[in-house]
Amino acid sequence: MLNDKATKPQSLKSVVSRVSAMLLLGALSPLIILNITISVVLLRAPLKKGNWLDIGGGVVALYTWRCGFLKNSAMLINIVSGEVNFVGTPIIWAQTTIPRIRRFKSPCERAGLFDCLQLHRMTGLVAGDTATLLKKQNEQGAIKDCAMMLQIMVCRMLYKNGGATSTDAAVFGIPFDNTNMSDAVNWVCGTHADKNYCQIGYFLNANSINLAAGQTSLRKVLSQSNKNFVDGSGMRLAARHAGIDLADNLNGTDMLPALCKKAIETGSALFLLGSKEGIAEKAGKALQARFEGLDIRGTHHGYFKSDDEIIERINNSGATILLVALGSPRQEEWLARNRHRLDCRCALAVGGLLDFYSGAIPRAPLWMRELGLEWVWRLMQEPKAKFNRYVIGNPIFLFRVYVLKQSIRGL
Ligand code: UDP
Repeated sequence: MLNDKATKPQSLKSVVSRVSAMLLLGALSPLIILNITISVVLLRAPLKKGNWLDIGGGVVALYTWRCGFLKNSAMLINIVSGEVNFVGTPIIWAQTTIPRIRRFKSPCERAGLFDCLQLHRMTGLVAGDTATLLKKQNEQGAIKDCAMMLQIMVCRMLYKNGGATSTDAAVFGIPFDNTNMSDAVNWVCGTHADKNYCQIGYFLNANSINLAAGQTSLRKVLSQSNKNFVDGSGMRLAARHAGIDLADNLNGTDMLPALCKKAIETGSALFLLGSKEGIAEKAGKALQARFEGLDIRGTHHGYFKSDDEIIERINNSGATILLVALGSPRQEEWLARNRHRLDCRCALAVGGLLDFYSGAIPRAPLWMRELGLEWVWRLMQEPKAKFNRYVIGNPIFLFRVYVLKQSIRGL
């Protein structure tokens, strides 16, 4: 019975794939004829077959045109002959990460030219483990498959392939750690035994770069943290133009679930500071309900007058990790000013995170985050509060990216 349920949509998917590939081949027939003609003129075989592996270890033999244009379009032949699907088990192209699972068993029927891991790698989104993501991909219908392929093509144009090439990097003169989520979380929950003051981490995004461009003091603050992580499609675009392929997209909101798990594992305790009255407490309770055993030592709203009182409260709580959600640039400036007085091991400036986890503001749907369009959602949620930041700030940021690109090219 179970098998029936699992195979039915699969076969339908395969049929849809094959019929669409056939139609596409028909539409591309003038180009195909041209490619074949060029090969014949050059006395070469028109098709070339290359062997690849999928992440389950299966061999995937794919055609490409030997001569001519859109050489990869020959892979449509593989789809028509039922060897691969449009969407399926990821093929290990140059940038694909191989899951750390021995003999990974993919839930997909066969290998696919497109897969959700490609999309997540390009946007740096960390939204689940390989098996869960592929299971979800396998269950989605043909329309969602098409939308996903479209997303991948758009992201390919915007962000290239993704995948880190260097760990220490800088954009707009501000250094950052080009790292993945698990290394970042390990750092936050680390003992930092060799350090005698609180380690500070910030998340750089288009807004913080815009703010820092107008305030030398903020630029100094951002440059003097222990680690900066990069967040958002704007930063990905800027990094791409600076010749840097980014690893994971890192922001406090995506990091928190992994951070909570690691905190439980390492016996770390959290203090949540920020947002309106009652929000931090609500977020704390929601997190403790979701992550059993999570130690939250205290919470406080972010509209306080005296730093001394708050710092005393944080230090007395015995928390080892402090999350500061006071909005930019207040949170970064507050941490830079007070870090030497904080007893916790690590503190992060996390923006609107508590609003999301308390349920006060809903998070953007996954498809928007996958396209790097979370900012559109936030603008829709709070149009007045976010107008300057996004409607004015985004074009200014894009102009900065343009100037950065020109300056790198020496123009
Ligand atoms: N906030 C605060 N104290 C302040 C100003 C802001 O606690 O003096 C809170 C505000 O309630 C919100 C968060 O800081 O929860 C800022 O959220 P925002 O969405 O602006 O942060 P972002 O992630 O965009 O930097």
